[in-house]
This record gives sequence, structure tokens and C-alpha cells, in this order.
Amino acid sequence: MADFDPHKNKETIDRDFEEQIRPREFTQFSGQDKITDNLKVFVKAALLRGDSLDHVLLHGPPGLGKTTLAHIIAHELGVGLRITSGPVLDKPGDLAGLLTGLETGDVLFIDEIHRLSPVVEEYLYSAMEDFTIDIMLDKGPGARSVQIALQPFTLVGATTRSGLLTAPLRARFGIQCHLEYYDTPVLLQIVHRSASILQVEIDNQAAHEIASRSRGTPRIANALLRRVRDFAQVKGSGIIDNAITQYALDALNIDKRGLDQMDNKILSTIIHKFRGGPVGIGTIATAVSEEIGTLEEVYEPFLIKEGLLQRTPRGREATQLAYQHLGIIKDDQSKLFS
Ligand code: ADP
Repeated sequence: MADFDPHKNKETIDRDFEEQIRPREFTQFSGQDKITDNLKVFVKAALLRGDSLDHVLLHGPPGLGKTTLAHIIAHELGVGLRITSGPVLDKPGDLAGLLTGLETGDVLFIDEIHRLSPVVEEYLYSAMEDFTIDIMLDKGPGARSVQIALQPFTLVGATTRSGLLTAPLRARFGIQCHLEYYDTPVLLQIVHRSASILQVEIDNQAAHEIASRSRGTPRIANALLRRVRDFAQVKGSGIIDNAITQYALDALNIDKRGLDQMDNKILSTIIHKFRGGPVGIGTIATAVSEEIGTLEEVYEPFLIKEGLLQRTPRGREATQLAYQHLGIIKDDQSKLFS
């Protein structure tokens, strides 16, 4: 069976499905209470003053709700939302086109904002700060620039790698929120909500199983729900119960802790090939045939959160828990190399 990998490539995820279940209002968004409580205040204050909301930076691993929050912010402000991403904005002209098309108070969402090119990023500074941009007219010696006033707008930037953001860009966001992985009770609410939107019957034990094996990530919980629904329809009665859920999750290679094949491959590589570490991230990446960025953005934060991996100045180390998880006795490690 193919690996289940819903977080690796956003483009492969069924967009229609995501749009269908994406919360539109704060009341539908579960978890991240501190962030939503604050955002509600800032949105309300902006509405009371008739101002645009300050620029918002959302950072955290993929699938935790950054795009969703951008939708909600625009909805709660009652303004339009334009969506783009760092790699798509190639030239300052692309950005200028978007910015001049915004109406008063609109939200511009830039996903993967750490991947903006330096020239585009610099262009964004004046737009964010005083809602103006300079546009070059003509080329060569006769070239001159004119300043264009923009409508006040709110930039919502999302990034999985806040460490890669330049200091000047980061400083221009008045509101900065770090999204955390979700705990099982919150994911349970999300699974039940998605099941009811999909009009599929699910029992609480099955929903709990999906929630606890979703790597703390709503996108994965929703993707697992859909896959389990397929199994329930083809191999079961159509109703998602615990038995079909266990069967489906095993078939998808999702283990009891919710670790997928790559998570386990990373841990077993560190233990088997590098004596449990410390080992550099570049070496791990080569050994598991994955990009360093993906390891750092997607896999490592969760393994660290679960207490299976630790970062040390000399590299990554598997913890005692990782040995237990893989059923290896640490003291027997020498046998692994004999
Ligand atoms: P990100 O932009 O951080 O990668 P998204 O906002 O696209 O993540 O969220 C992925 C999916 O997970 C969305 O389809 C959304 O329905 C769901 N989701 C994310 N956060 C929540 C939440 N707090 N409550 C309910 N559903 C959520």
C-alpha cells in the first residue's frame, strides 16, 4: 500500500474537500484558544475603530490552521480575502498587481512567506508600513518611479519556518501567533464536526482513535477520517466503528502513537545507523532520502514534542522513549552493529 502522507505535498490534497470542511468563523475553529481569544479582541477593536487590522504573522507546522485563520479573520472583519504564496510572487510587478487590486480593509494572505524573493520582500515593506508602493515607469535612462497610494489592508503571512524570516519583515507584523499541535480532545471535536459535514456516522471510540493518531494535526485527522470512511464503505457497513478504524489505520501504516512510516524511519535510522545519535540533520536527510527542510518543518517538531527525539548542539539524538517505541533495548544496541 502507498504511504499515507497528507502533509508532505499540499497540492495533492483534495482542495474541494478542504474547502468544504474549513471553519469559516471563530466559533467553528477548535483549539488554539489563546490565539483565537486575542485575535477576536484585535478584530473587534479594528471594527470599532473602523481601521484595518494590524498585519498578522501565523507560524507553525503544516496543517494546523494558518490558512483557515486567514479565512476566518477576513470573514469576521467582513472584508475580501486574496490568497497567494511566497514562491508564486516572482517579481515586484506580481505583488503590485495584487496590492493595487485590494479594497479598503481587505486581507491579503501570503502563504509560505519565508519563500518571498528578497526584491519582492523589500517591495512589501512600504506597502505594509504606509500603504504605498513605488512603481517604475519606463526603462533605461528615462526611467522614473511614481508612488501609488494603496487602500489600507491587512497582510496575513503564514510560515512553517519563522526562523527563515528576515528581521525587517518580521518586525512589520504587529500581531504574531505561534500555532501549537492540537491535543486529542480538541482533535476529537474536529473529527466529529468533519464527520457530520461529510454526513458519515462515526462512533466515539473510532473518532477518538483517529484523533489520537493524527500527529496533533487537524489536516491529518480529516484526511484519516476520509480514508477510514473509504474502508468503512468498502469493507464494512458504512458506519465508522472502532474495528474498521483499527483495520484501516493499520493498513495505512499509522502506528499507535500516530507516527507514520517516515517518522519511524527517521527514528530507526538514527538508532540503527548512527547508534542513537547525536547525528547531523543533513546526514539523517541523506540516509532517509528526504529534504532537510521537510525534516525540520514536518517531522522533527512532532518527534520532539512526543519526546522521541531531542536536539543537542552536536546533532539529533533518539531518546529512551524512541527505543521503547521501536521495541529496542538501549543496552542491546551494540548487537545492532555486530
Ligand atoms: P495550514 O494553512 O496551517 O497548513 P489549514 O488552515 O489549511 O492549515 O488547515 C488544514 C485543514 O485542517 C483545513 O481544511 C481545516 O478544515 C482543518 N483545520 C485546521 N485547523 C482547524 C481547527 N482549529 N478546527 C477545525 N478544523 C481545522
